[in-house]
Amino acid sequence: MQASLTGHKKEIEEKIMSISGENFYRCYQCGECSSGCPAGFEMDILPNQINANLQIGEFEKVLQSKTIWICVACFECGTRCPHNIDIARINEALRQIKIRKNMDLFNIWDVANTGEFPTVALVASFRKFTA
Ligand code: SF4
Ligand code: SF4
Repeated sequence: MQASLTGHKKEIEEKIMSISGENFYRCYQCGECSSGCPAGFEMDILPNQINANLQIGEFEKVLQSKTIWICVACFECGTRCPHNIDIARINEALRQIKIRKNMDLFNIWDVANTGEFPTVALVASFRKFTA
C-alpha cells in the first residue's frame, strides 16, 4: 500500500517536472516570488508555498488549491527568483494535470460513437490521456 502511494507520488512529481521543465526542489524559500506576485492576495497558497508543498509531497493539496487557477502567468515570480524558478510554468503544469485527472475516457468513447465528434477533439483527448 505504502509502496504504491510512493510510486504514485513519484509519478506526479515527474509529470510536474516534465511538463513545466522546472525543478521545484531548487527552491530555498526566500519568498521573493510571493512578495512580488500581483495575485498573491487572492491565493490560498502563495507561490513559494506551492514549491514548499510540492517538496514535501503534498500534491493533492496543491492540485485542490485556488492558486493554480488564479495565477495570471505574469512571470514576475520567475523574474525575481534568484534560482530562475518559473512558478508560472509549474502552475500551468498543475492545471494540466488537474484537468486530465478529471476527464473520463469512457465518456469520450460514448460521444465518439455518435459520429458527431470532431476528429481533432478525439486526437486531443488521446494526447491528454497518454502524455
Ligand atoms: S506568474 Fe503567477 S505566481 Fe508568478 S507572480 Fe505572476 S501571478 Fe504570481
Ligand atoms: S523566489 Fe525562487 S527560491 Fe525564492 S521562494 Fe520563490 S521560487 Fe523559491
